[in-house]
Amino acid sequence: MSDPALRVQLGDRSYDIAVVHGDSTGVGTSARERAKGELALLITDTNVAAHADIIGRSLEQAGFRVALAVRPPGEAQKSLDVADDLYEVLLDLHADRRTLIVAVGGGVIGDLAGFVAATYARGLPLLMVPTTLLAMVDSSVGGKVAVNHLRAKNLIGAFHQPVGVWIDTATLGTLPDREYHSGLAEVVKYGVILDAELFAYLDEANAALLDREAGAVRRIVVRCCELKAGIVEQDEREETGLRAVLNYGHTFAHAFETAAGYRDWLHGEAVAAGMICASRLAERLGMITADVSERQVKLLKAFHLPTAPEPWSINALIETMRSDKKARGGRMRFILPRRIGEVVLVDDVPEDDVRQVLKDAMQ
Ligand code: ADP
Ligand code: ZN
Repeated sequence: MSDPALRVQLGDRSYDIAVVHGDSTGVGTSARERAKGELALLITDTNVAAHADIIGRSLEQAGFRVALAVRPPGEAQKSLDVADDLYEVLLDLHADRRTLIVAVGGGVIGDLAGFVAATYARGLPLLMVPTTLLAMVDSSVGGKVAVNHLRAKNLIGAFHQPVGVWIDTATLGTLPDREYHSGLAEVVKYGVILDAELFAYLDEANAALLDREAGAVRRIVVRCCELKAGIVEQDEREETGLRAVLNYGHTFAHAFETAAGYRDWLHGEAVAAGMICASRLAERLGMITADVSERQVKLLKAFHLPTAPEPWSINALIETMRSDKKARGGRMRFILPRRIGEVVLVDDVPEDDVRQVLKDAMQ
């Protein structure tokens, strides 16, 4: 892309991530360099349609014939039924294997459009244009795409790397506070798992970040993308276990999201409380001292995030965690901190310790 912030190195599946602020005119030309077809299908939702229009105009100027599919917002869009609707749209447009799919939206749109791109005609080029902080720092990089099965989230999916990622941080200007704060939870996660310096910066710049100041936002977005790219480059398909560090806080988080019915808690909120539970668990196991957890609590609170679960049934939470795919052979596995900036995978965590951590957290 014209001025890439960074590149994800994956051999012939390598791609650039551009990070701009308030100027998406270059997206068309950079898409033109990456995709040879004449048709582009933009997939977006009603909350983001204004941003999608700007992207669409730039693509038209670069010579694409642009079609728009605007979906309602919400997780329910990540279904095989909706994917099927989009296959119909592609058929009506006489799409071919060079047709570019452009995902303009948050993680839901990225996963859905990415899934359609991965599967239609055995794979179409995909351009990710994330508009939530969460999607910018996490789901738009790395090639994981999926829809939900009635019985399991993200069950039906693929690894399908995009041809490029175009991040315009100015689109965050319209993102609701709660969604923005939720994205910051994943940013804090990167600090804890890989980068003490990033963690310190979040502390220091938290007012600027809460104000969504362009320079501060750019810095964290670029850094998180670099960190994610580094992991994806070493473990593209989640085979070596390295990519698992990204799951810090997530075993607890999935249980909290399940308990809240995927309704009352946003993903990042559950991750925030989940990271603190994981950190307390590391304390119980003698891996860290309490100050490591306290620093995370302080930062997450500054970002208006929850740091403890609601008083849900501990048995139900344990049950969900046991059935989590990261639990193997009945033992419980967690990504736990050794210090700020380093985590390890711990097998064989005794269930009693997990129960106690949950109980303490609910007091
Ligand atoms: P996530 O990226 O957190 O996984 P979603 O894709 O569900 O989540 O997006 C969260 C919500 O924010 C959705 O209602 C979506 O329509 C809305 N949204 C996404 N990006 C923007 C934006 N830039 N401005 C306003 N609303 C947005
Ligand atoms: Zn997450």
